[in-house]
Amino acid sequence: MELWYTEYQTKNLGLAARIKETLYSGKSEFQEVAVVEAYEFGRMLVLDGVFQTSIFDEFIYHEMIAHVPLFVHPDPKTVLVIGGGDGGTIREVVKHQSVEVAEMVEIDGLVVEVSKKYLPEISSALNENHPKLQLKIGDGIKHMQEVENKYDVIIVDCSDPIGPGKGLFTHEFYKNVHKALKPDGLFVQQTESPFYHQKLIQQLTKDITSMFPITRLYLANIPLYPGGLHCFTIGSKKYDPISIDIGRIPENLDTRYYNRELQRSCFALPNFVKKLVR
Ligand code: SAM
Repeated sequence: MELWYTEYQTKNLGLAARIKETLYSGKSEFQEVAVVEAYEFGRMLVLDGVFQTSIFDEFIYHEMIAHVPLFVHPDPKTVLVIGGGDGGTIREVVKHQSVEVAEMVEIDGLVVEVSKKYLPEISSALNENHPKLQLKIGDGIKHMQEVENKYDVIIVDCSDPIGPGKGLFTHEFYKNVHKALKPDGLFVQQTESPFYHQKLIQQLTKDITSMFPITRLYLANIPLYPGGLHCFTIGSKKYDPISIDIGRIPENLDTRYYNRELQRSCFALPNFVKKLVR
């Protein structure tokens, strides 16, 4: 008998992956957590029925959410990741020599534990207990209310704006992110699909622009996510992502998707996306 797992991306559209087996299935206080082994995507983390990451294409998302903002900042030393329980973003953050402290605040300890066991390629920095890593299990929204003038770069590696991730897409949250950043700091957030989440993108662009002098959206092609094209939004106090000198980015980085040319070209937007962020 064939086993298929379907993520409903909109009310009328789903991505179905044929799977070999379910490796883990459980429930935390926040969400249903599963790891399934699929034919095309390999092992996948699924939260509340939504595909989060897969062995097949995780490198694209994790490299693009980490390296693009970290290379916009000329000298990121103190970095915070909110969410990111699978560990892929932290794995990329600690590759940066300038980074001294990589904090991570993930609300769900079960996601971290399950990722450590079933997705070791992604969670390597968590498994190694990397010396730069400071892991806290807690609510990123609350953490942002409590800190001030602390981080060079904040990376919001969150799930969709439902459940525990809902408050990570609000005006109030962006106000606290602004407060938690140093005077030349910047943040990035995964901001969903330019095809299926247009209202959300328009709203958060407005909210971020009301707080930060520089707001920029960039794109990456990610097969696992709705529409295969994914948005990331940067809010920056000082450095404009499109006018940095890419010459200072090493050519021989340990990456499979990201490179110095992409640092610039990912900000080139199709007209329909330009319209969303105008
Ligand atoms: N790459 C993924 C995507 O775009 O689908 C995101 C992956 S990562 C697993 C998302 C994480 O954000 C989840 O582990 C979830 O528990 C965490 N999260 C959601 N709301 C949170 C909050 N308020 N504070 C901290 N972490 C949160």
